[in-house]
Amino acid sequence: MPRLPRIAVIGTGGTISGVGRDRLDFYEYGTSGRFMHVEELLAGVPELARVADIVPVRYKNVGSGSIGPSDWLALLDIIHRTVANDPSVAGIVVTHGTATLEETAYFLNLAVKIPTPVVVVGAMRPASSLGADGGLNLLNAVRVAASPQARGMGVMVVLNDEINAARDVTKTSNYRVQTFISRDFGILGYADADAVTFYRKPLRRTAPDTEFDVAGLTALPRVDIIPAYAGADSVLVDAVVAAGAKGIVSAGFPSGSPSPAQKDALSEAAASGIVVVQSSRSGSGRVIDDKVALRDAGFIAADSLTPQKARILLMLALTVTSKTDAIRRIFETY
Ligand code: ASP
Repeated sequence: MPRLPRIAVIGTGGTISGVGRDRLDFYEYGTSGRFMHVEELLAGVPELARVADIVPVRYKNVGSGSIGPSDWLALLDIIHRTVANDPSVAGIVVTHGTATLEETAYFLNLAVKIPTPVVVVGAMRPASSLGADGGLNLLNAVRVAASPQARGMGVMVVLNDEINAARDVTKTSNYRVQTFISRDFGILGYADADAVTFYRKPLRRTAPDTEFDVAGLTALPRVDIIPAYAGADSVLVDAVVAAGAKGIVSAGFPSGSPSPAQKDALSEAAASGIVVVQSSRSGSGRVIDDKVALRDAGFIAADSLTPQKARILLMLALTVTSKTDAIRRIFETY
């Protein structure tokens, strides 16, 4: 019998490993239940042994609201070390809570330096619940990570039988199992029962072909997001400037503008050397690099990145440069 592909599964916690009070606990498990370590999560899906030789790797056991930039850097290090220590590892799966799953996935999509496929997976229903979706999601994520076609696709997100690009995907619904959607660009492919199939490939630069090398860092430059809302004054902008932000992402009114008071405060921040990126709160479409509205104010267009992804790209961009023109080029590239 041919050897099965060796796939490392790194556990971070989240609903996929959540154990609630009983089979009808769909939302309180985070406070009244517990998260399983990765070995226990894997033991609940014995069918994994049919598709891969699984290597469990423990990292964390938390809800993903608690995962932040220092965890991304530590996870990156674990991914690199796992493959360096065992070059027979053909793919990596990260199990993760869905709240910040797309952020971890996009960070890895920009920072991973090895060609080994990386898939991030979660679930909408805890492992202990009726209709739990995590077992099949995990099996599918492992199958995708093991697929020879997964190379060159950047970091992927697999839930609900669909393969999404980390750049494009976002959680769109609080409880539905079909919550992860790549709104403007669509899925990359399917993980169906008979086969893993791909139909397209990301064109924006992805791991491992990126200019960001954050190995050894334990923190990223501070970047905050400022939401636009009717009547917003400058208080939030002033607060993040005072907190020492190196960059600010404006989650503007569609099609991409802050309130007038925010715009004045952001222009001042840009003039003082803080890098300002203009995104939109709509969740779909590009922000256009408008000369008068953006360039003259010193702002950079987020293109089609959501505010939370524009923040990650800006944090990484600030590790290589603080020049507005260079960062504008980065936003046109990734
Ligand atoms: N609160 C959970 C988390 O992000 C939600 C989930 O995993 O679906 O960890």
